[in-house]
Amino acid sequence: MPSPDACEHIGAIKTITHPQRHVCEECVKINAQWVHLRTCQSCGTTLCCDRSPNHHATAHARASGHPVIASAERGERWLYCYPDDAFVEY
Ligand SMILES: [Zn+2]
Ligand SMILES: [Zn+2]
Ligand SMILES: [Zn+2]
Repeated sequence: MPSPDACEHIGAIKTITHPQRHVCEECVKINAQWVHLRTCQSCGTTLCCDRSPNHHATAHARASGHPVIASAERGERWLYCYPDDAFVEY
């Protein structure tokens, strides 16, 4: 489990939400490419990272106010909180 001291948002996460499918849900609609995938821990949407051309995960966090994403990449086990700029491995 992630460290509860990272921030209140990460501390509130009891179960990590993993991606249902390994695709960016927005990129597939517009036929775009992505680099890495992140899963929103508030709503479970899987979107692309900031190295991808469309930055869907960050755009979603800004638009929705959902604070925490998890890496959806196999072998990566971390969470990131946007408002607190907090990164934790689990
Ligand atoms: Zn936070
Ligand atoms: Zn995308
Ligand atoms: Zn969300």
